Amino acid sequence: MNVMVVGGAGYIGSHAVRLLLDAGHGVTVYDNLSRGHASAVPDGMLVHGELSDRAKVVATLREKKIDAVMHFAAFALVNESVNDPAIYYRNNVVDAIELLDAMREADVKKIVFSSTTATYGEPDIVPIAETTLQQPINPYGFTKLVFENALADYAKAYGFAYAALRYFNAAGARPDGSIGEDHDPESHIIPIVLQVALGQRDKITIFGDDYATPDGTCVRDYIHVDDLGAAHLLALDKLESGKGLCVNLGTGRGTSVREIVEACREVTGHAIPEVMGERREGDPPKLIADATLAGQLLGWKPQYMDARSIIETAWNWHRNHPNGYATKAV
Ligand code: UDP
Repeated sequence: MNVMVVGGAGYIGSHAVRLLLDAGHGVTVYDNLSRGHASAVPDGMLVHGELSDRAKVVATLREKKIDAVMHFAAFALVNESVNDPAIYYRNNVVDAIELLDAMREADVKKIVFSSTTATYGEPDIVPIAETTLQQPINPYGFTKLVFENALADYAKAYGFAYAALRYFNAAGARPDGSIGEDHDPESHIIPIVLQVALGQRDKITIFGDDYATPDGTCVRDYIHVDDLGAAHLLALDKLESGKGLCVNLGTGRGTSVREIVEACREVTGHAIPEVMGERREGDPPKLIADATLAGQLLGWKPQYMDARSIIETAWNWHRNHPNGYATKAV
């Protein structure tokens, strides 16, 4: 298939691009580079443009004979979405709807969308299944849910075929070390802990150890970025006109913040000093996926089932690219 990867210069999108190429698909990356990195995209594949530029999106879809779109181009920071919801509604909803309407114009109606566990809010029952009521607690989660709803309506009314893949905590890097995570500022736990090991930070601050979890720190379901990408490829083959496929993507295993820090110590051999800090606002104590449905519907099975093996791939990227894509010779 010819696939347009919107946001293919970003962290998860760039990994999906490599997997698509490995599987023999044709790839066009459409990205405005507001947060992504041109050097994360293989030569000759990048179309630099805005989703709001309808003419450019339609022309790209037509010229590249695109069969399906993967949409990774959303903003994804909870705190930022609380402080500046306007950019979240603009980018994650308004511009994303522009994408759908450009697809209608070009008669491309297959789309795989990066959704999120944040659409569930703070569910009472963990592991979280897809039957859980979606009640987001922040603008980020709301914007993703709005777009999921738009997809359902576009499927029904216009015959779109879609998959909404609800990621848990994306982590890790392509094992060959060629691409990885590079956010500025960085807010995610694994890259931050690894920055301590690299000497770029003095210590890691753990955001609270008084949660109702086994060691008091928050528990998350860390899922390798290539396992996420693999699910996108499987979803491509399952898209059906007029229908949606909404599944969770996680390992079904929880890892606490303390366990992450300890695993980073083991992987890096660095002492990684820690201090205990206040709770970070809006952090649910425990988010673990019930990803049974993704196994059943997609035949998906994550390859990286423990945080340590995920961290090893992240470390392989970070230690060779201490300044991310800005790293010169390594
Ligand atoms: N966390 C932490 N210190 C940090 C960054 C994150 O203790 O410097 C914790 C955070 O409170 C959460 C977990 O690590 O419980 C994962 O946070 P991250 O931002 O990586 O992902 P989120 O689950 O918020 O999407």
